[in-house]
Amino acid sequence: MLFKQIVGQDYIKDRLINMASEGRISHTQLFAGPEGSGNLPLAIAFAQYVNCLNPQIDDSCGMCSSCVKFDKLIHPDLHFTVPTISPYKLSRELAEDWRESFIKNPYLSDFDWLNTLDSGANKQGNITIDECRDVVHRLGLTAYEAKFKTQIIWQPEHLKNEGNVLLKLLEEPPLGTLIILVANNTEKIIATILSRSQTIKIPKLKDAEIEKALITNHECTPQKATDIARLADGNYNLAMSLAGMEHDGYFLQFSNWMRFCYSGKIDEMQKWVDEISGSGREYVKNFIGYTSQMIRAAFIYRYGDQKLLRVNDQELQFLLKFTNFIHSQNIPEITKALDEAVIFTERNANLKIMFLNLSLYIGRQLKSGAKAA
Ligand SMILES: [Zn+2]
Repeated sequence: MLFKQIVGQDYIKDRLINMASEGRISHTQLFAGPEGSGNLPLAIAFAQYVNCLNPQIDDSCGMCSSCVKFDKLIHPDLHFTVPTISPYKLSRELAEDWRESFIKNPYLSDFDWLNTLDSGANKQGNITIDECRDVVHRLGLTAYEAKFKTQIIWQPEHLKNEGNVLLKLLEEPPLGTLIILVANNTEKIIATILSRSQTIKIPKLKDAEIEKALITNHECTPQKATDIARLADGNYNLAMSLAGMEHDGYFLQFSNWMRFCYSGKIDEMQKWVDEISGSGREYVKNFIGYTSQMIRAAFIYRYGDQKLLRVNDQELQFLLKFTNFIHSQNIPEITKALDEAVIFTERNANLKIMFLNLSLYIGRQLKSGAKAA
């Protein structure tokens, strides 16, 4: 992975390159950034850079024997720990799947990864105690050829008590070892691990960075790139997924839904629920994200600075009336219910039941809004 293959984050790239050039490389680092920020590709690009045999001023050379192996993630001194699901216990049992998944999409989420392993099954990812012992063992062995034997631990949020096996290693790794933890949410990392790592905060991407990448890499028109960047809210993984699907239908689906929720006509609602539930989990997740955004936009339209609204004409026409149903009491309730729906969707809940309950709930909330208006 070269730095130049990663979207935006110029400030972080400069900082990492400076750290490497000045030889200030902490042995245990934590790359903390939200989903789609690029924290994982940045960690790999950094490891590649410190191991490059002919590093350039702004990137790895991409041609030396170390770079060639890093590019395919087959360097013998590059190790990954990733969440697994039973019956697998060790990340190396899934090394091939992992390489393929990362090369296909360096911005993949925990959800995407577990889905490739066992789509449709309701299983939670896990980093096992056997894996932790395996890490300690392999980092104790001599490096084959690298300057820095590198261990990347992706999603250390999964480590609970078993993580204590790693503490001594994180505190004092063998000489010439680089350990990078790559996390989305530092609040979910156990304190004993957090305190032993040097944290590098990776911010979410800017809309302009996402727009540019969508136009260059995904042949989006400028208008489509702007619309997608607005929805993606700094998450390039989500942006790519939106670019790959026809999402112009979201608005119609959303406006119909709100109408059915409010009218409470069960037969119409049931038809709508059947349709959306058959659309695939990725689509559903994105659709719920769109809905949250429109609900917030309706609130801003009523109470906030309308200049902050980023909606197109069609959406604005809808908001003119819809805004009367959203107020300060029901907006936290509705957005909370939508956030939970995203989690249920990822956990393979029954979508029909979920949407039916959600529709009835939102209907009640909207009616309370009508009274207040
Ligand atoms: Zn190189």
